[in-house]
Amino acid sequence: MVRWGSGWQSMGRLGAIAKRAIWGIAAGVIGLGLAGCGEFFADLAELTDWRVMASPHLMLGNPSEAATRQDMPQNYLLLKPQFALSYNRDRGTANWVSWQLNGDWLGDVDRQDDFRPDPDLPPDWPEVTAQTYRGSGYDRGHMAPSGDRTASRADNSATFVMSNILPQAPGNNRGPWNDLENYCRDLVRRGQELHIIAGPAGQKRRVGPAAVVAPQSVWKVIVVLEQPGLGADQISEATRVIAVNMPNDSVIETRPWRSFLTTVDEIEALTNFDFLSNVDGDVQAVIEARVDGV
Ligand code: MN
Ligand code: MN
Repeated sequence: MVRWGSGWQSMGRLGAIAKRAIWGIAAGVIGLGLAGCGEFFADLAELTDWRVMASPHLMLGNPSEAATRQDMPQNYLLLKPQFALSYNRDRGTANWVSWQLNGDWLGDVDRQDDFRPDPDLPPDWPEVTAQTYRGSGYDRGHMAPSGDRTASRADNSATFVMSNILPQAPGNNRGPWNDLENYCRDLVRRGQELHIIAGPAGQKRRVGPAAVVAPQSVWKVIVVLEQPGLGADQISEATRVIAVNMPNDSVIETRPWRSFLTTVDEIEALTNFDFLSNVDGDVQAVIEARVDGV
């Protein structure tokens, strides 16, 4: 007795492939009709996803699911060779900046100091320039530090776009914030690889003609990997995570950076972002609740 479908079965794997192809073509024809003008945006989203997956700076995740779409002006993804960030047009700063740091990024290039508007932002958005913070009393504070990108002039210059800069109180920027940046590069010189995310929280006041938000505090999350080249799936409950939240105030200048230690959970509650989202959920729960060194 010949059952329906036995012809396909006897054809084995080739048959299965042919069957899938026929269904695929049928689904494709229906899909094309349904997609209509949305197809373009679907393609764009797919392209963005691919870039997100390929970027070493988003290995641990995209904390706010930012996308490079003009209809998302408060969460606009910029993926650069040197770092990734979510830009907020209404704050005039990033929501977060994320970057990989290992020995390959460190060299002996001088600080380029070429602060400038970010050319990758939509041209009709309010422009934050090298002069926007002038007279405000705030430093042009780097998120991805100049000192973390010294392997080439292009890499170092890339950190001076204003989308990577926040109005930072001088005593914060040149005090414990700077000390922690130096500590990170010490870890890298010992052979470790870091994945760092930093950004602002709250609003103290607005600065300059572009009304840039000076935040109440600046926070940073640092995942410390024992060697370069590991993946998010190799992060375990034993992985070291450093989280800090520092008031954006010069009174903290002489305080040690360790006095601002907190948990990733606290910074997630403060910002509503999900950090380390590419890490296994059970592992996240452990390493996000732990204060470094405790
Ligand atoms: Mn700085
Ligand atoms: Mn998380």
